[in-house]
Amino acid sequence: DDKGVTVLGLGAMGSALAGAFLAAGRPVTVWNRTPGKEAALVAAGAATTGTAEAALAANRLVVVCLQDHRSVHEVLDPVGDALAGRVLVNLTTGTPEQARELDAWARERGAEHLDGGIMAVPPMIGTPGAFVLYSGARGVFDAHRATLDALGGSRFAGADPGAASLQDLALLSGMYGMFGGALQAFALIRSAGGSATEFAPVLREWLGSMSDFVTGSAEQIDTGDYGTGVDATLAMQAASYVHLVEVAESQGVGTELLLPLAGLMDRRVADGHGHEDITSVIELLVGRRSL
Ligand code: NDP
Repeated sequence: DDKGVTVLGLGAMGSALAGAFLAAGRPVTVWNRTPGKEAALVAAGAATTGTAEAALAANRLVVVCLQDHRSVHEVLDPVGDALAGRVLVNLTTGTPEQARELDAWARERGAEHLDGGIMAVPPMIGTPGAFVLYSGARGVFDAHRATLDALGGSRFAGADPGAASLQDLALLSGMYGMFGGALQAFALIRSAGGSATEFAPVLREWLGSMSDFVTGSAEQIDTGDYGTGVDATLAMQAASYVHLVEVAESQGVGTELLLPLAGLMDRRVADGHGHEDITSVIELLVGRRSL
């Protein structure tokens, strides 16, 4: 049955994926290394198998969501022959290199392959807020998109099998920058005995309006022009950033999250770019490794 989906891996995310396919009316077969995690899915109508090989035999479309690249190979290596004619959609987080490796490995075994990056936490799967990035052969994506859309919005990131992973990790890099910034902000509030709950709405409002930075800086990055129409020069920002470090120190709050950016801004100012926007710091980040 071409409408069916096999899901390998029933951790928090794999279970959510299988549940979303079921909710969309797809026949689902699930397998997990450790038995017991399939009970709720079986109650909701999923089939289960005792082996990964039997699960692979059940459907042409096979979605894999395991801990890491290594666990994907631990599950698939022994059953490589069963992959011929299958469409392997790997939604396990990994690096672009790992995605390319798995792509070549799957093709050698006669399987088609898409690599994906899930941009959601498990409760969001199947809701409009979730999206999944996919990369690999466009035709394979188009052929299975209707099924994959059950997970959330499906977005094609590129033909390079590593493209979805690169975008996924770029988005997470942005997210962790925000997490680090929010933690530093809350730490300052707490150091003065303040309530994080009371402060949260204003922090959220501020981060929301400051997220416009992404649009303006992208244009500067693509044109390489960091110096036109700058409202807040790097020299000004580097000078005022010193206060972030000083207040942390005087409040007994750690400065580990702050110092790396201070170092980069200062270096860029010292190199004569103080009149430019903070975006110009990117010149110190890219191109460290010769490709
Ligand atoms: P969990 O820790 O909940 O589940 C891990 C899964 O991997 C389990 O099914 C586990 O099986 C299996 N596993 C681990 N090692 C092996 C192995 N050697 N052989 C076979 N199976 C193995 O993780 P999640 O479900 O949360 O995450 C799964 C993937 O989804 C990860 O790559 C994660 O980065 C990604 N992801 C998760 C998000 C989240 O918010 N949770 C968000 C976006 C992506 P067993 O039950 O037998 O231990």
